[in-house]
Amino acid sequence: MEDLIRQLLRQLGEDPGREGLLDTPRRVAESLGFLTQGYSIDPAETLTGALFESDADEMVVVRDVEFYSLCEHHLLPFYGRCHIGYVPDGKIVGLSKLARAVDAFSRRLQVQERLTAQIARAISDAVRPKGVGVVMEADHLCMMMRGVEKQSSRAVTSCMLDRFRTDARTRGEFLQLIRGGEPR
Ligand code: ZN
Repeated sequence: MEDLIRQLLRQLGEDPGREGLLDTPRRVAESLGFLTQGYSIDPAETLTGALFESDADEMVVVRDVEFYSLCEHHLLPFYGRCHIGYVPDGKIVGLSKLARAVDAFSRRLQVQERLTAQIARAISDAVRPKGVGVVMEADHLCMMMRGVEKQSSRAVTSCMLDRFRTDARTRGEFLQLIRGGEPR
């Protein structure tokens, strides 16, 4: 990868031999490895490794999970917050594992819509709850730094499964909770 980065620098009109750039190929390779480490994490294993029996049947909501991802179209960052809710059906999952699953999917080349659906689907498959909702809000550097330069534009995506899709009250409670309000 370091050779490719040196080549890329040359293509950009730079001199990879100048002092400030000497270590850049190694650093970029390391940084890209870190930003895409999600490929080596199995989110299903992460989630199923922390399941607990529970008779809780109230909605569980984890709000404002920070995430950082790279858009697959421009390899530029998009980042923001992810909100997760589910209604347990006999099992609950360790809260930190939800954040870890978000990391596993976001530290890959992504589009926000697919990322949102993958997180919801993985939780649904692992925890088998009565329903799952995931909402992601993100700023995309590829929109902010280039092209239209709409610096205030934020993309919001959501994926609602089972009860969150079919029952307006469940969905409403979830949306209320992630906005920080009390459920009705
Ligand atoms: Zn992009």
